[in-house]
Amino acid sequence: IYPQDVHQLDIRTIDKDALYVLERLTASGHVAYLVGGGVRDLLLKKKPKDFDISTSAEPEEIKKIFRNCILIGRRFRLAHIRFGKKVIEVSTFRSGDNENDALILRDNVWGSQEEDVLRRDFTINGLFYDAARQTVIDYVGGFPDLEKGHLRTIGQPFIRFKQDPVRMIRLLKFRARFGFEIDHDTRLALIESKHEILKSSSARILEELLRMLESGASEPFFRLMIEYGLLQLMLPAVAGFMEEEEGAQIYSFLQAVDEYTLTQDEPLDRALLLAVLVFPLLEKRLIVLYAGRDKPPHLGEIQKEVLHIVREAFGSFFLIPKRLKIIATTILFLQFRLNAPEKKRSRPPRIPQDPSLSLALKLLTLRSQINNSLAKAVEYWQELIKPLDSSSE
Ligand code: ATP
Ligand code: MG
Repeated sequence: IYPQDVHQLDIRTIDKDALYVLERLTASGHVAYLVGGGVRDLLLKKKPKDFDISTSAEPEEIKKIFRNCILIGRRFRLAHIRFGKKVIEVSTFRSGDNENDALILRDNVWGSQEEDVLRRDFTINGLFYDAARQTVIDYVGGFPDLEKGHLRTIGQPFIRFKQDPVRMIRLLKFRARFGFEIDHDTRLALIESKHEILKSSSARILEELLRMLESGASEPFFRLMIEYGLLQLMLPAVAGFMEEEEGAQIYSFLQAVDEYTLTQDEPLDRALLLAVLVFPLLEKRLIVLYAGRDKPPHLGEIQKEVLHIVREAFGSFFLIPKRLKIIATTILFLQFRLNAPEKKRSRPPRIPQDPSLSLALKLLTLRSQINNSLAKAVEYWQELIKPLDSSSE
């Protein structure tokens, strides 16, 4: 147990609503701690994305205490307590089986607070913060690992990755975000177990990928995913492209995405992020297909290739939600309509009437950061779209 003067986590940096939830749970006779990424990020003096709470109270008991609470999840049952747009996740202490390497399909067996830590993924994610005493409780050596910058699974890495292969992606996410070193055994297990990744639910993997695209560290993350051979298994077409020289284009796009996220302090739209991953593949395909022709492909031909490339890129493994896929497809298609006019025109061009237009323009803007010759088109369309945007708000 580390006291305040050692861990130096400033309680004022904790979200007020999270503190309120902790107090209410404790006042009702339960044990409740801040846990996971929130504690980790505050100790690293970074702004946490969310605040998770772990408690001895069972879901039904939590629901009774908070009016603004709903229970969600089957695989992993937990309570969502809503404060406006913000959600505080509260989960009951649960036990895991760190000796059994079978894939975890459900995880709803309640346990002690120590068991709750032992079933978590990495030591740096296994710290509790006790708000009443302002102490950090560490059962797994997470505090020194955080100070040294070490990534280590809790328990046997081979077993932990087989139980839940998504942990391998999470490992690379923390390496990309914090630049921490991967512990020797954890690294060996990652290399040996990478094929297990396809046993995970594609929805969970897609969620982790999208979160990384939104994180501001997507470029180093995708580099690591290629280096360790995980992306090749999940997105073979995109990974194949990234491994060639031309793959540098995708990395440049990801850099531009990260820069946007960090400077605007908010992520780009998810459909746009998916479009970013496939745009270079689409452009190459069009060049290859139509190289020998003197006429450029017409819009119908481009439409066909967009659909083809989206199917090829995400394959059969990922079931992209329909709405997301439609918008991503539209963003890609519109790239070929947002050209600058070749000569001065007296009458304005027809503006594609599509709600995805401003997202398409954002992709064009990202492209122009890599390819300066597009700057004119960006400027031109921004002028035209401005009045549209303000009328829709
Ligand atoms: P982020 O900053 O991206 O939110 P996080 O570590 O907080 O990172 P969450 O998905 O919010 O990630 O999960 C919260 C906590 O739950 C983690 O810190 C970890 O303790 C535990 N956890 C999450 N995913 C797993 C997993 N696949 N296996 C074991 N424990 C997990
Ligand atoms: Mg989190």
